Amino acid sequence: ATPLNFVYNVAPSRVVFGQGKIQALPDELARQGLKTPLILTTPQQIQHGEKVKAILGGVGHLFTEATMHTPTSVTDTALAFTKSVNADSIISIGGGSTIGLGKAVSVRTGLPHICIPTTYAGSEMTPILGESVDGLKKTRSDPKILPGTVIYDVDLTLSLPPGMSATSGINAIAHSVEALYAQNANPIISLLALEGIKSLAGALPIIVESPSDVAARTSAQYGAWLCGLCLGSVGMSIHHKLCHTLGGSFGLPHAETHTIVLPHALAYNAPRIPEVMGKLAEVLPESNGDAIHGLNVLLTRLKVQRGLSHFGFKAEDVDKAADIAVSNPYYNPRPIERDLIREVIRRTQAGEDAR
Ligand code: NAD
Repeated sequence: ATPLNFVYNVAPSRVVFGQGKIQALPDELARQGLKTPLILTTPQQIQHGEKVKAILGGVGHLFTEATMHTPTSVTDTALAFTKSVNADSIISIGGGSTIGLGKAVSVRTGLPHICIPTTYAGSEMTPILGESVDGLKKTRSDPKILPGTVIYDVDLTLSLPPGMSATSGINAIAHSVEALYAQNANPIISLLALEGIKSLAGALPIIVESPSDVAARTSAQYGAWLCGLCLGSVGMSIHHKLCHTLGGSFGLPHAETHTIVLPHALAYNAPRIPEVMGKLAEVLPESNGDAIHGLNVLLTRLKVQRGLSHFGFKAEDVDKAADIAVSNPYYNPRPIERDLIREVIRRTQAGEDAR
C-alpha cells in the first residue's frame, strides 16, 4: 500500500440538499441580504425559471438564453441585462451549460451565485469555467468561480429524460474515477469518489427503467454531488483530456462522449493502477472483481450509445484526434503514448467494448 502523503484543500461552498428544498430559496437570499436576482435558464427550461420566480413571490428577472459551451457573446448579452435590471445576485437553474453562464456572469461582476443543478454534470461544485470565443473553448480555474450556494432538489431532476440521465450520470462517475488516480489524490476525496460511484452505479439502471423513482433519483443526485466535489478538488487525467479534445475539436456532445470514452480510458490506465481497479470493482455492481467488466455491464444496462461514430465522428479523423490529444503534456498514471492513444480513440470511434 502507498504511504499516506498528501495535501487536502477544502473549497468553501454551502450545500442545501433534499426533496422540495427549492422552497428554501427565499431564506437563502435573505440570509445574504439579496433582493433582485437574475434567474438563468436555457430556452428548454424556462418553466424551471418561472418556478423560481414564483417561489420568490414574483421577484427576479429571467434570462433564458443559456446555451452549450458558454459563448462569450451570450455572456455579454446577459451582462448588459444584469446591469439594466440592477440585479444583485445570480440564480442558475439547469445543467452545466446554465451554470457555466452563471459562473461567467458572477466572475465578471462579483455578484453572489446560487446554483440549482438539474443534471449530474457537477459544474456547481467546481471553480472551473469553460467559455467559447468564436467557437474556440478555453478553460480557466479561479476560486472566485466556485458558486457560493448550491441547492440540490431531487424534484427538479425528475424531468431529465432517461437517456440524458444515464449519460450525465456516467459523466459524473468519470470525475470520481479520475479523482482516484489523480496526481494530487488524497484519502478524503477518494472516499467521496467511491461513495459517489457506488450511489450512481446503483441508481442509474433504476432511473432508466423508472425515471420518476424518487429514491433512485435522490441517490443519483447525492452521488453527483460527491463526484462534482471530486472534480473540483483534484486534477483530471487522460479521460477528461480526451473528452475535451473530442468535444472541442469535433463538436461531439459532452455527456455522451464521456460515456463512450470512460471504459477505454480506464482500460488504458489499468496496468498502472491495480489498487484503484480493485476498489472500483468493489463499488461497481456485477463487476465480478473486474472494474472494466463492471463498467461494460453498467453501460449495457443503461442502453447508451457506445460508438462516437453515432455522433458523426469519422474513422478518418482518428489520427487527427490522436495528434491533438498528445500535443499538450499532462499528468497521467500511465505515460501517454501516441500509438496507444490512437488505438483508444479508434476503439471509441468504432464502438468496440473496452478491454
Ligand atoms: P446541459 O446543461 O447542456 O443540458 C442539456 C439540455 O438538457 C439543456 O437543454 C437543458 O436545459 C436540459 N435539461 C437540463 N436539466 C434538465 C431537466 N432536469 N429536465 C429537462 N431538461 C433538462 O448539459 P450538462 O451535461 O449538464 O452540461 C454540459 C456542459 O457543462 C458542457 O459544456 C460542459 O463542458 C459543462 N461542464 C462544466 C463543468 C465545470 O466544472 N466547469 C463540469 C461539468 C460540465
